[in-house]
Amino acid sequence: MNRNNKNYQYGITMVDAEYAQEGIASIYLLEQDGQVAIIETGTTHSVPYVEEVLQSKGLSFDDVAYVIPTHVHLDHAGGAGEFMHRCKNAKLIIHPFGAAHMIDPSKLIAGTIAVYGEKLFKKFYGEIRPINAARVIEAPGFFKLDFNGRELQFFDTPGHARHHFCVYDKQSKSIFTGDTFGIGYPQLTTQQGRLIFAATTPVQFDPGSLLQSIDCLMSLKPETMYLTHFGAITPSDDIVKQLKRSVRKFANIALDAQDVFNKNSGSIYSNSESRVDYIQQKLKDYLLDTIEEMGAIEPREFYEKNINFDTKLNAQGLDFWLSKST
Ligand SMILES: [Zn+2]
Repeated sequence: MNRNNKNYQYGITMVDAEYAQEGIASIYLLEQDGQVAIIETGTTHSVPYVEEVLQSKGLSFDDVAYVIPTHVHLDHAGGAGEFMHRCKNAKLIIHPFGAAHMIDPSKLIAGTIAVYGEKLFKKFYGEIRPINAARVIEAPGFFKLDFNGRELQFFDTPGHARHHFCVYDKQSKSIFTGDTFGIGYPQLTTQQGRLIFAATTPVQFDPGSLLQSIDCLMSLKPETMYLTHFGAITPSDDIVKQLKRSVRKFANIALDAQDVFNKNSGSIYSNSESRVDYIQQKLKDYLLDTIEEMGAIEPREFYEKNINFDTKLNAQGLDFWLSKST
């Protein structure tokens, strides 16, 4: 069993999806009266890890009533088809803008290959199964689910992606935030708390909407945020401030990059460095400065290994945002 797996209160369990490596993506199991809702799915490769945890609790895939990816990016919804295949009694709950991609994942697969390349796609995601439309429930903003008497409220939270919702669990006063409340790995905890920063992954980043969505979540006065990347975090004023500052800063880094490249088109940067690389370097500089301000992280191993991957994806999303808005 993965050492990151964790039992929280209120029947909430976190299973490490082992997406690419340990400690990167969470899957949450929510138990209520002998039934289970799976929030976030990791990828097809993550399915056995969830099965192992269910078995350890005397449960099986037959007890799964709902599979609930927060949005259709494949580190969140890549395993949905395989889970639905294995969990015969389950319904899939998905944002209305994501439903078509779960029923026919071909565009999603093509889009993800465009970001990661074919080789990494196979390694990360394996096979993606389509889901029968009759088993799909669309959850628009303010949708409520009665899960054996436990109320789950769904909030439309665009900004990271237009097909993104967050799930508020009234009983635990907590929110399953997907990517809306950013990326905050416990391994990146400084003397002044955890590093947290926005996820601006391609292709629908919109800073204005993301800031509004964060405000929407905070208006619910949650006590705990269950991040997909990674685990539970208390949404203190400092955390919210740090997160919102990163949204603004990342957008500004992108806009500055646009200026630099417009001014220098055909000269210093065009051959040696792409705009994406330039943005990525600025994101790395910002995160490093933030970490130093917060009293540094020891050891640095996780940071060195993972921040490159996250800033690369973020830079690609920011670059795409620029190309859309010009
Ligand atoms: Zn995402």
